[in-house]
Amino acid sequence: MTAAPRWMSCARIAGAVLLLSCLATSAGAADIDWAEVESQATEFLSAYIQIDTSNPPGNETAAARFLADRFRQAGIETDVFESAPGRGSVLARIKGTGGLRPIIFLNHLDVVPATPEGWDLPPFSGTVRDGYVYGRGAIDCKGPGTIEAMAVLLLKRQGIALKRDVIFLGTADEETGGKLGAGWMVAEHFKDLRHAEFLLNEGGSVRLRADGSRAYEIAVSEKTPCWLKLETTGVPGHGSSPPPETAVTRLIRGLDRVRGYEAPLRVTPEVQTYYAALAATLQGERRERFKDLRAALADADFRRAFLQDPHDAALVRNTITPTVLNGSQKTNVIPYAASAELDCRLLPGEDPEVFVRTLKDTIGDPEVTVRVLLNFPPTSSPSATAFTAAVRALAEGEGAPVVPSVLTGFTDSHYFREKGIASYGFVPFDLSEDEERREHGVNERVSTHNLREGTRRLMDLLQRLDVEAQHDEQAQSKTR
Ligand SMILES: [Zn+2]
Repeated sequence: MTAAPRWMSCARIAGAVLLLSCLATSAGAADIDWAEVESQATEFLSAYIQIDTSNPPGNETAAARFLADRFRQAGIETDVFESAPGRGSVLARIKGTGGLRPIIFLNHLDVVPATPEGWDLPPFSGTVRDGYVYGRGAIDCKGPGTIEAMAVLLLKRQGIALKRDVIFLGTADEETGGKLGAGWMVAEHFKDLRHAEFLLNEGGSVRLRADGSRAYEIAVSEKTPCWLKLETTGVPGHGSSPPPETAVTRLIRGLDRVRGYEAPLRVTPEVQTYYAALAATLQGERRERFKDLRAALADADFRRAFLQDPHDAALVRNTITPTVLNGSQKTNVIPYAASAELDCRLLPGEDPEVFVRTLKDTIGDPEVTVRVLLNFPPTSSPSATAFTAAVRALAEGEGAPVVPSVLTGFTDSHYFREKGIASYGFVPFDLSEDEERREHGVNERVSTHNLREGTRRLMDLLQRLDVEAQHDEQAQSKTR
């Protein structure tokens, strides 16, 4: 998995030739003024950040209209949809010449809330300083939305003809689960999306490591939430004369048993592939061990060390995180009811019903009920498609490896994967750990260089995608 086999390099060379001929025929791509693109994208993102779409409440319609105005001014067919008052999503489409199915650029319009405390600059100012655009959403997800919008605007402006339609879809409500955004669009307006072959979403990036190495991470799979509520009741009363058992003591006992439960380790095929690809980018012992994680985990010392890292641990087992606790509101009052919420995340391929049953058995008390608050089927996308081949070709051009990754969190991709659209998490920004930490944190920012390079890579990717699909067709006709 580390280096491309030799025949692949030949295909790559053929691809490069094809790509050059493509670029030559669509004269528009060659004469793009990238410095101008950088300044336009910077202005775009700065204005976009200033539209406060903190969710809750969202108010995404203002952002949807902002984007729609830019698209319509350029003569691009655009619609704004509202799932509820103020909860707008925007869909714009650049028509292809036909022959290939569309690609969707999915991004979300809402952001997580931000208060000015801890920020060097007001979070909704969109300040441009020292080569960075600052503000809530710079990385998640208005920066990605900006480069996707820039790519769509450039296709139109430069008259670049692709075979597939490019659909820009900016949705509401991602940060609270997407029911009023991506989920609603799939439920109510799927006719506009159903032909799509691929979807590009947030979730991966060009990861910059402390040692200066880079890797293209594409998220092909994600864990699925199984959020649970534990509830129990008991005799209420005065705290000064407690009965032997109350709702609170019962709940605590149940929670303690959950705490003691150790979820079994399981290395899914996606996770095995992820670590094998990662191995190629590492040095030392981990390079050897990660090549076959399943085998490596059989070694107790390695396993112990591996599970120390919360991210690594979360990729090889279901996790159970107690978060919300509810009992009495007063120190001297024994409540009638007590409850707790668990943020559980399941590996791809897990059966939620089996998981819940295991947890109930672990609690071992029928008086503690377990209710599912949120769950959807775990989904993955194939890691060898024309899309991933196009990303691979793009990465090879920069001498960087490609790592198909699995997310421990979840994105709106599941709505589309459930409908059979191959969906990938990949934002072509170079991101260091420091920059990623700012996401949902303070001083979130993106460099103007990333806005320029991100747009350039997206344009490159779209054009390579035409070429890669051509390879696919040729390969298929040969095998037929
Ligand atoms: Zn996001």
